[in-house]
Amino acid sequence: MKQQSITCLLIVLALMLANPIDASAQPSAANHEADDHAAISIETSDAMQSTEQYNSFARTRKKQRKQAVMSWVTLEKRYPGAFVTHGPRNVRRAALTFDDVPDPRYTGKVLDVLARYNVKATFFVLGSLAARYPALVRRMEREGHTVGNHSYNHAVFSQLTAEQYNRQIARTDAILAPLVGYSPRYIRPPYGEIRSAQVQWAKRNGYVIVNWDVDSVDWRSLRSRAVIINVRKTLQPGSIILQHAGGGATQDLSGTVEALPVIIRMLKNKGYELVTIPEMLGSSDGRRQ
Ligand SMILES: [Zn+2]
Repeated sequence: MKQQSITCLLIVLALMLANPIDASAQPSAANHEADDHAAISIETSDAMQSTEQYNSFARTRKKQRKQAVMSWVTLEKRYPGAFVTHGPRNVRRAALTFDDVPDPRYTGKVLDVLARYNVKATFFVLGSLAARYPALVRRMEREGHTVGNHSYNHAVFSQLTAEQYNRQIARTDAILAPLVGYSPRYIRPPYGEIRSAQVQWAKRNGYVIVNWDVDSVDWRSLRSRAVIINVRKTLQPGSIILQHAGGGATQDLSGTVEALPVIIRMLKNKGYELVTIPEMLGSSDGRRQ
């Protein structure tokens, strides 16, 4: 193993020891496969977490899954309207959502496809990346898409203190509001991970937590065919579809970009209307304060 990797691992171990995971914490995605996001790496440590952190998180989550305390279904029941994974099932609509943006390699290409098909989507933006690539965030807004908050640097909310969690949201909010003209209402927790008390705080402060019911699993650098199959698998009216338009240096999202026109045509052929999250939930882009 290279010296650098060993140093990284030591840092991660030190971090884990300094901030042990509370066994009584309530993982939200206990039975969800999407939390094994182990592959994202980084351009800089400030922008997103390191691959080592992702891997160690995935391992921890496996342990937590066994303890399975609170599922997304339970959170939806407990906080109706404040924690959602889908929209109304009686309307033939679907919402495309793209996480880990903006990324100069892929976000513009995804925006190009959406513009070509005149489809509006929802982008969950990382504050650290928005600060670095503000023009792409302005473009999302200008082209009619909704911008949501995906934390400042892809932190695992369920492992944060209340203060750290609030700061992840507020810091991103402060970067996004001047770019898009509103304080984003919708928050997507990295990995879909969030504790009950954190949902409660979000609800109290006018935010809505938006996870998904269709996972393209595209973060694994899948070929377009696999992305399309994954989307088709659990699609139903009201579905919120998770995809990525940005990621770490080792992630190849060309499969996502290639699949997108096919997915849009498929959805339209099946009679789906493609809407943004606020359209699906009958709400506005910005937060009630
Ligand atoms: Zn993410």
